[in-house]
Amino acid sequence: MSATPESSGGPSLAQQRKLVTEIPGPRSRELMARKQATVADGLPIVMPVFARRAGGGVVEDVDGNSLIDFGSGIAVTSVGNSAEAVVRRATEQLTRFTHTCAMVTPYESYLEVCEELARLTPGDHAKKSILLNSGAEAVENAVKIARYHTGRQAVVVFDHGYHGRTNLTMALTAKNMPYKHRFGPFAPEVYRMPMAYPYRWPTGPENCAEEAAAQVIDQISKQIGAENTAAIVVEPVLGEGGFIVPARGFLPRIAEFAREHGIVFVADEIQSGFCRTGQWFASEDEGLVPDVITTAKGIAGGLPLAAVTGRAEIMDAAHVGGLGGTYGGNPVACAAALGAIETMRELDLPARARRIEEVMKPRLLDLAAKHPSIGEVRGRGAMLALELVRPGTTEPDPAATAALAKACHSEGLLVLTTGTYGNVLRFLPPLVIGEELLLEGLDVLAGAFDVLESAVDGL
Ligand SMILES: *Cc1c(COP(=O)(O)O)cnc(C)c1O
Repeated sequence: MSATPESSGGPSLAQQRKLVTEIPGPRSRELMARKQATVADGLPIVMPVFARRAGGGVVEDVDGNSLIDFGSGIAVTSVGNSAEAVVRRATEQLTRFTHTCAMVTPYESYLEVCEELARLTPGDHAKKSILLNSGAEAVENAVKIARYHTGRQAVVVFDHGYHGRTNLTMALTAKNMPYKHRFGPFAPEVYRMPMAYPYRWPTGPENCAEEAAAQVIDQISKQIGAENTAAIVVEPVLGEGGFIVPARGFLPRIAEFAREHGIVFVADEIQSGFCRTGQWFASEDEGLVPDVITTAKGIAGGLPLAAVTGRAEIMDAAHVGGLGGTYGGNPVACAAALGAIETMRELDLPARARRIEEVMKPRLLDLAAKHPSIGEVRGRGAMLALELVRPGTTEPDPAATAALAKACHSEGLLVLTTGTYGNVLRFLPPLVIGEELLLEGLDVLAGAFDVLESAVDGL
């Protein structure tokens, strides 16, 4: 391969972990100081290093350190950063026009993205889509559409659910800190139900699906009335809630209940979709065919794009002019999405996600066998996690989780934490990451456990 030009990231960036300064380095620390002065403090920073280039499975910082990327910018750059087809198509679009507004004079790429969504999402019924800018905006629109279609108001969501940071999606989101605290009042007619969280189900994982589904159905029936319920909104694999995989059988039962009562079943696949869990959409795993599906994150290789895709008769319900937005389905973002989808197909990224699970899961299970602080290893495909607890209990250990993440960061492995209790380490590598980097990342993780454990022993 030819020498990598200094300016270019993308697939040509050297695929290695390399630390040339402490983390964060001096240039990043300088920029952090500038950040404190100019950016609102409410914006959190996972890792205080500033990016210079990124591609494949690495992020290079402004000090020249090269980090292994187990985050993909929160499940966004599944096709890799600056992926060739994304850059090619978006660049070509940039030179033709940057914006006309899809509501003013539309363009073909908007249609092509909607056609791809109709092809790729579960179910062979007639589907239509609307394109938007962010995940939260997609969820908001899914609720608008479901309400209009059903003429009902109530929206059902779940414990540990995350759906965004706008007013309605804060209401739909379960966790107070940091998402909702002091930001109310929240939108009304939102009802939260138990989630089938096997690890924490009071009577044990084997009873979880059935008992949770029965509780949800009973509560909807008694507290809301199925006939008043517009939509049930659920993540097929929960993201910010801690990579919870609902107990098998729970989601199909809820979807069936929705179908029996004319409730729109909305799968929020914003984090789990687009090959992440080893299938194009996580819903496929249990044969779910959602009425409506929301997508964003992985859809466009890093450009802001989101979509609501659903049964044509539901999507067509709202009056003309009732849906839209200035930038929704921006032509550069649409071109990027077509490039990302092309890459997913060409490289068979669902298979790559399954391979990542094959490599990572056994290693994570080995770690769990060695470290009693790991309560559970879970997830599917390249959406994997460790839940950390105080040894011998199921008591969440957010402090150990934060310390582990920090130890990984200082060794050049970019990992994220998550979970209602802040005690989940999550792994979301780009699906194009090389296997050597993946294994090296796992070694760094194992080392972080050892370091942490000896620190505790030393007390
Ligand atoms: C990230 C996320 C959202 C919100 O998406 P934004 O683009 O940040 O608005 C909604 N739902 C799920 C499941 C997500 O992971």
